[in-house]
Amino acid sequence: MVSRVIPVDVFDLVIFGGTGDLARRKILPGLYRRFLAGQMVPESRMIGAARADLTDEAFRQQVREAIAEFVPKARQDDAAIEGFLGRIHYVSIDATGTGGWAALKALMRENVVRAFYFSVAPSLFGDIAQRLSEHQIADAWSRIVVEKPFGRDLASAKALNEVLAKHFNETQIYRIDHYLGKETVQNLMAVRFANILFEPLWKAEYIDHVQITVAETVGVDGRGAYYDKSGAMRDMVQNHLMQLLCLIAMEPPYHFDPDAVRDEKLKVIRALKPVKTEDIVRGQYGAGRGEKSYVVHSENPASKTESYIALKVQISNWRWQGVPFYLRTGKRLRARASEIAITFKQPPHAIFDDASGWHENVLVIRLQPNEGMNLMVMIKEPGPGGMRLMQVPLDMSFADAIDDAEDVPDAYERLIMDVIRGNQTLFMRGDEVEAAWAWTDPIIEGWEARGDRPQTYDPGSSGPEDALMLMHRDGRRWREIRE
Ligand code: NAD
Repeated sequence: MVSRVIPVDVFDLVIFGGTGDLARRKILPGLYRRFLAGQMVPESRMIGAARADLTDEAFRQQVREAIAEFVPKARQDDAAIEGFLGRIHYVSIDATGTGGWAALKALMRENVVRAFYFSVAPSLFGDIAQRLSEHQIADAWSRIVVEKPFGRDLASAKALNEVLAKHFNETQIYRIDHYLGKETVQNLMAVRFANILFEPLWKAEYIDHVQITVAETVGVDGRGAYYDKSGAMRDMVQNHLMQLLCLIAMEPPYHFDPDAVRDEKLKVIRALKPVKTEDIVRGQYGAGRGEKSYVVHSENPASKTESYIALKVQISNWRWQGVPFYLRTGKRLRARASEIAITFKQPPHAIFDDASGWHENVLVIRLQPNEGMNLMVMIKEPGPGGMRLMQVPLDMSFADAIDDAEDVPDAYERLIMDVIRGNQTLFMRGDEVEAAWAWTDPIIEGWEARGDRPQTYDPGSSGPEDALMLMHRDGRRWREIRE
């Protein structure tokens, strides 16, 4: 099966922070890949905007280097790279000052899609939004893309929403959560809502519990001081894990339409119960063989910030009554692995005597590595050994299903093309972000008020001991973290 590429309209995309890490690693290489795939009409342009004083040619050289570093060799086509670089421009601009804005205005074309990617610190969002409208660079059809973190609590998220709302309508604001751009995450919706097979079972009557895991092997070295002000709850749970939870738990929207989908996600967030203290486990990685601990990386010996968190979350509605959602995410764990596992209940009556081989059905949705899905089913063990059961996976790996897995766009590529197409379905709406913070705030305030310290865990492990207990206590077990 070859993926279809449908070209998008001609656009001018301004990347504020075009010289930054995110632009270099993700945005610019991603745009090149869309250019290579033929999705970009050749007249489209990308304009880097940042503080550094660079010529177009000097910025193109940076982009050339970013492509060399972050695009697989097989996709580095000299002619395509030169063609792409020909579409690149640069404006030196100070978000908080006056320089550069007139030059940017002069560069923008009429009658093409105008998009502005705010790949800068959130403290600059307000300045950039204000100057774009003051200088009439943005119009009513322009779109802005804003990066995470979107606030650090409800109050700051509200303030950010208000700042942006002064100059842009909600339909122009694209709050990016790259988890929503992952192929498998979107497939979760296809699996649920385009098949009759799962949806009838998708409820408390048939589902025992859900596990969502986002495990990383990296620590926070290099950005420890920044991370220390955030922690796993703010950095991962409030946004990424929450979005995954919403897609699993939401009701079928009446149509695959941005507001219909986001309305249903919002209802899930509003139905989340407050989390009990005993249902939260926080951890911090200690030192390992020749490896430094979290407190060294964060340069804060007294740090109480968590680099790991596990939570038992409950949704207070009919569909999910009594079904726990176990969420966990952490750094310096044994493998880089993200997955959602939906464990179904056992059949109501066992007709087979074989107690030994009995397992539940589990639908595993792998986000990384090797995006794909697995449905664990029970079959008879082959051979003459009597009616013995075994669990086998019905495996659907996207790399196998698509002729050329290299052509599967990564999350950023897909989301940027959605911005150009004007499709907000996979972006967070302002009220959704605020609702997520409204649920998160009391949890964080709780441990801050108690002065709780995270439990130390070994780097390269599966996380703190207490996290195991969180599930053992309920007679359940975490799935193994492995690639
Ligand atoms: P960075 O520090 O590497 O780059 C910041 C960019 O902003 C640079 O291009 C710099 O020139 C520009 N800039 C800074 N001050 C400016 C000013 N006053 N006027 C104009 N330009 C200015 O940061 P980054 O890692 O690329 O992150 C950018 C944004 O993306 C942040 O909001 C970050 O939280 C978010 N983000 C980054 C990553 C990542 O992997 N790097 C991942 C998710 C989200």
